Amino acid sequence: MANIVRNFFYTLLFFALFLDGCARPAETGTLQVVASIAPLAYFAERIGGTHVAVSVMVPPGGNPHSYEPSPRQMARLGDAALFIKAGSGVEFEMDWMERFLSINRSLRLCNGVEGIRLLRVKHDGLVHQDGRYDPHYWLSPVNGMIISKNVERALAAADPAHRAEYVASSAKLQAELQLLDREIQRELAGLKNRRFLVFHPAWGYYADAFRLQQIAAEEEGKTLTPRQMQRIIEQAKANHITVVLVSPQFSSSQAETIAREIGGTIRSVDPLSSDYQNNLRRATTAFIEAMR
Ligand SMILES: [Zn+2]
Repeated sequence: MANIVRNFFYTLLFFALFLDGCARPAETGTLQVVASIAPLAYFAERIGGTHVAVSVMVPPGGNPHSYEPSPRQMARLGDAALFIKAGSGVEFEMDWMERFLSINRSLRLCNGVEGIRLLRVKHDGLVHQDGRYDPHYWLSPVNGMIISKNVERALAAADPAHRAEYVASSAKLQAELQLLDREIQRELAGLKNRRFLVFHPAWGYYADAFRLQQIAAEEEGKTLTPRQMQRIIEQAKANHITVVLVSPQFSSSQAETIAREIGGTIRSVDPLSSDYQNNLRRATTAFIEAMR
């Protein structure tokens, strides 16, 4: 009887192992990558191709300045080989990084910002007194070329067997980004008015790359006081601005009020799209219309 039980147990065990293997055949040899924000996932997918499975922490529409990872995402991190962080002071990364590393001791880290010259946060065209850095560095194609290099190096280190492929896809992507940079330069070349008004100040690197001036309504995701509202409305009027740019991650009710006061409209630009290159093209169209 004991024998029968034992055989039955082994049969079950065999099927359990067999089924487990069947259920996840695609994952064998696939590098599990977690990116903190969607634009970084784009780089991992383009460079890693079929050798990687990429997931994103901050979900679409989520705000990285106030986001907290879910238990499911923490579990996924436990299986991941590589975590790509923005590394530029995005709040949740700083709060959670120690936890991330403690649940997965073999987790490799890729720092997206390495080698990128961070810009200080500006307000009213002036550098902030507390000297904070603007975290949104990925929104310039030239910085994208550096991110591409960083992700390429991390993937090659985590999976040396496919190094040549990672290097080749990264080179291709960098060439595309250089063309994209020129394309956007060309499109913005004729603009006389080069000031735009954006509610959340995510476009400082874009402005810097293309010689534009970003006027931002809010700071650090805080609601504007009536006094700040009045100031930004006056500033917008003085600069003949008629479009307030908003992003899907932030409430647009104050932006709508500003737009109403200046007799203008709101338009959406997304600083966190996973469709990196097309999103920069779409944003360029929005900026051109806003500055026209
Ligand atoms: Zn932001």
